Amino acid sequence: MSTPTIRGIRPAGAYIDECVTDLRAIREQWGDLLAAVEQAPASEWPPREYRTVDIQAAARDDATEPAIGRLPLVLREHPAPANLAALDAAMSVEEALFTACDVIAGRVQRPVRYAASQQRGRHRYQPDQADRDDPARWNLPTHSASVTGRAAQPGSRVHGLHWAAVWLEGRALSEAHGDLFTPTPAPVVEDLAAVARRARRIVERALNRDGRPTKLDRPCPWCGGLLTAHTRSGDPSAAAIVCATGEACGAPVPLDRGRRIWRGTDRVGLRLALEAAQRRTEDSAA
Ligand SMILES: [Zn+2]
Repeated sequence: MSTPTIRGIRPAGAYIDECVTDLRAIREQWGDLLAAVEQAPASEWPPREYRTVDIQAAARDDATEPAIGRLPLVLREHPAPANLAALDAAMSVEEALFTACDVIAGRVQRPVRYAASQQRGRHRYQPDQADRDDPARWNLPTHSASVTGRAAQPGSRVHGLHWAAVWLEGRALSEAHGDLFTPTPAPVVEDLAAVARRARRIVERALNRDGRPTKLDRPCPWCGGLLTAHTRSGDPSAAAIVCATGEACGAPVPLDRGRRIWRGTDRVGLRLALEAAQRRTEDSAA
């Protein structure tokens, strides 16, 4: 979007960089989205953090990157999801990325080799098991076959969205893995970049990280005014909180265009004041 254009033609590399950035942003926020499925939505600040999931994912990232970055962080069946919007977002992002994997595997991935084996003195050709089970290969799902009674198989989808995003990143970058992949054609990367951009937007919208201002459900501890959190895409830690009252608000933070605003470390003071106000409310109710 901010990439310079020459008469409307963008260099192919621009799509690759954007695509990789978006795929990583999806991966990094996936644990948060899965956790959000189980939480009732609320307008609250600071944004809810899911440290356990983040830390686990980061640890596994370090241990398994880059070739076999399969993570068991998968969208599970929820008998009663608390946040249907988050569940919808997770399901549509999963479907979009899995489908992209299926399509791109069909374009750039070498089919499974056949290997000769000797059986009762006769040469037989059969799919090479090792080649088929190469962890770098994306295996497409299969449908159930009524003739043979073969059950449907999820293929590589079973490894979840995180692995799909890692695999797609490898294809966006045309990473080599023996002769398993041919370089990904530019139009395919361009299509993938569009899929990744949309998917990232869906994830960030579901997590309230898409830059839309969020009205907080608790008032300003100094004046009782309406507080609004403004976030930047992909970076909830950069939120700024604004009190709607104006100069009359006595909060000990600078004025910005006539409004009290909490940025950076000032937000710690606001957080503590909000917590203190919450405790006072609870005490007086008890
Ligand atoms: Zn205020």
